[in-house]
Amino acid sequence: MAKPRVKHYLVNDKFEDPALVIEIDSIGDYILFDLGNIRKLDRSVIKKINKVFITHTHMDHFIGFDHLLRNKLGKEQTVEMFGISPLAENTYCKLQGYTWNLVEFEPQIVFSLKQHNGGYFESYRYDIKKRFEKEFLGKTKADPKTVYENKYYKVDYAILDHKIPVMGYSFVYKDRLLLKKDSIKDLPLEGKEIGEFKQFLENKENKDRTFTIDGKEYSYQYLKERYSYIQEGIKISYITDVVFSEENVEKIVNLVKGSDVLYCEAVFLSEDKEQASKVYHLTTDQTAYIAKEAGVKKLVVFHFSRRYANQKEKILQEIKQYFPNVE
Ligand SMILES: [Zn+2]
Ligand SMILES: [Zn+2]
Repeated sequence: MAKPRVKHYLVNDKFEDPALVIEIDSIGDYILFDLGNIRKLDRSVIKKINKVFITHTHMDHFIGFDHLLRNKLGKEQTVEMFGISPLAENTYCKLQGYTWNLVEFEPQIVFSLKQHNGGYFESYRYDIKKRFEKEFLGKTKADPKTVYENKYYKVDYAILDHKIPVMGYSFVYKDRLLLKKDSIKDLPLEGKEIGEFKQFLENKENKDRTFTIDGKEYSYQYLKERYSYIQEGIKISYITDVVFSEENVEKIVNLVKGSDVLYCEAVFLSEDKEQASKVYHLTTDQTAYIAKEAGVKKLVVFHFSRRYANQKEKILQEIKQYFPNVE
């Protein structure tokens, strides 16, 4: 069956700042993973971004916050942000880098932020009407696996080592039950009834129950097979700024296992392994090793060191030796 319509792409060239976009038009969610320079991102998309997941706040991953903010002004909206401490403080400092008088006439823009901090998820809120003061809303024990979840998808995470803690992410769009449009129109169901019928099929606990149509009872299994199908989900992972250590590799493989697409950094050529481990980054062969171990279907690499400006093909070639489905 066709995969859900989830569009995903890197904003920049492989030598430039990291930022991955996931667009889910059908539910109106527009997600960014990292906020490197995003000036090349279509403004109409920037305006729609409503969730941002940050790996860490090194400048090349967070400088785009200003550009996001600039394009958010003028329209009432809440942008949800996720990441790891000190994201809340860094966001606050960025917001306080500007003067916010006259904001009483501005539409209300709010940043709602959730950060991992020492085993807890802390919640913060920054409201333009309060000149983006930092409001601490509370904390709860951190779920060890998932940082965000709604009806359609979830985002899992792992805390990885980059000499500072960074977040690795897996976006998992769930399997969905859909009705077969052609068959369903033969049923004498209308409007609200179709919704109820779908809800009945969606709930696996109904498997031994029946559904009545026009006074006749039908089994769950029969109706499910005849009138619905499962749209398989998709898993897209995003890993960057990590050192090649046993612990990191184990956590990453565990997180990104079986991904349809793994977006992963490949900062250095394999010959520069020593330099890579000094600055807590991966080399081509290390990235390929992770992709292979995790059994991902496709690998997309980025965050190439600028020292290899003319060697893009060489970098890709090195990875291809170990993991052919790479771009
Ligand atoms: Zn980086
Ligand atoms: Zn970094």
